[in-house]
Amino acid sequence: MGAGLAGALLATLLARKGWQVDVLEKRGDPRVQGYGGGRSINLALAERGREALRQADADDAVMRHAVMMRGRMVHFADGRQQLQRYGRDDSEVIWSIHRGDLNISLLDLAQRAGAGLHFHQRLDGVDFPACEARFIDGLTGATQVHRFSSLVGADGAGSALRAAMGAQVDMGERSEFLDHSYKELEIPPGEEGGFRIEPNALHIWPRGRYMCIALPNDEHTFTVTVFLPNHGEPSFASVRTGAHARALFERDFADTVALIPALEADWERNPPGVLGTLYLDRWHLGGQAVLLGDAAHAMVPFHGQGMNCAFEDCVALARALEDHPDRHTAFAAFQAQRQPNALAIQHMALENYLEMRDRVDDADFLLQRELEQLLEQRHPGRFVPHYSMVSFMRVPYATALARSEIQRAILVQATAGKDSIDQVDLALVDARVLAGLDVLVDAP
Ligand SMILES: Cc1cc2nc3c(=O)[nH]c(=O)nc-3n(C[C@H](O)[C@H](O)[C@H](O)COP(=O)(O)OP(=O)(O)OC[C@H]3O[C@@H](n4cnc5c(N)ncnc54)[C@H](O)[C@@H]3O)c2cc1C
Repeated sequence: MGAGLAGALLATLLARKGWQVDVLEKRGDPRVQGYGGGRSINLALAERGREALRQADADDAVMRHAVMMRGRMVHFADGRQQLQRYGRDDSEVIWSIHRGDLNISLLDLAQRAGAGLHFHQRLDGVDFPACEARFIDGLTGATQVHRFSSLVGADGAGSALRAAMGAQVDMGERSEFLDHSYKELEIPPGEEGGFRIEPNALHIWPRGRYMCIALPNDEHTFTVTVFLPNHGEPSFASVRTGAHARALFERDFADTVALIPALEADWERNPPGVLGTLYLDRWHLGGQAVLLGDAAHAMVPFHGQGMNCAFEDCVALARALEDHPDRHTAFAAFQAQRQPNALAIQHMALENYLEMRDRVDDADFLLQRELEQLLEQRHPGRFVPHYSMVSFMRVPYATALARSEIQRAILVQATAGKDSIDQVDLALVDARVLAGLDVLVDAP
């Protein structure tokens, strides 16, 4: 169910292994009618996602349209800018990709691998005892019933398959919505057709309780995402009109005003998108149905890992189906492997919101970051920065979280009350690192 990012990649992986796969998608074919949008316009692709794409031989096609992002370009309230590198050098970067281009590349691959793609087919209900799924044709309104042997739900955060499974058993489902939403705006190319601001960075305008970010697109535009509270001042409740938005930007994001010519129109046209985390105790119904990607564990976007995690799910599910003799066991093994990791990245994504909007311009945060980089040099492979474990490695997210918590305690303790790295007792910190952390080996 669903020919979005995870559905298209999983179909490719499974069809290549000889499974008979049919993908049913409620929207039209984006290759015929253009990409219909939906969630964010562009996404940050990191090593986990790239490795999954390599497994499907999709990496080359996708990377042709990717723009490298070396780090965060922080835009301070006083107009200063500072590039905070994500990694040590250009081998440790993330990539901005256009959701529509990525989806189209993956659909082409799925089709070439032999998967059947069926558009305008919205899953409407499932009769599990009869092994029949019911779809509504978006063009004709007609109902169609398909027999199935197993259903895979890659139908996103509002999954209809999850709802159908939940009508059979208690899935232990709960959603926690953030009291913040987002809206997208655009920085068009400059007069000469080039990028208007530094292309190889993820731009952030942190302003405490709210922020803007901007990711580059390969047609030399940037997609700006504004994150604001739903209530209070400023918020989506108080900044309602284009004129209100202009006033907010002139006050708090002054260096962007000249870059977003359609600010008022974009603001009034694009509705705010909600942000939330979906927790689910059960990801599968015996061997009949299983969920993955956002359908199983939607998360807030602040670590840029929702798609990367969904792509890791695809590889794990394809492998579980190969390794286990029956689907019930395969789906159970898939859930056992992925659920603790999904929980870990959901937690880290929530934490990262605070860091991005409120911490990246703080002196104590910058000192901790400086010490983190120093400890990475002093203890290579043992003290690996949090961001690197999540974005440049494929160690399980749960391992990254556990180690990050130990590391953060070391950094906070060592820098408390200090204003420069010279004041830090490095011998003591070294001893703590050696006692608390073993050498980290990446996933094979
Ligand atoms: C603002 C924002 C920014 C983000 N930035 C990043 C980022 O930088 N990096 C990152 O890794 N992740 C990011 N994410 C997360 C990422 O978008 C999701 O994790 C990813 O899209 C999940 O893929 P999916 O295939 O599970 O779901 P989706 O991409 O949502 O695909 C679901 C598909 O199912 C279809 N569908 C839905 N219902 C039905 C139905 N009833 N019948 C048939 N088909 C159906 C939909 O039309 C869609 O095509 C971001 C998310 C948001 C909201």
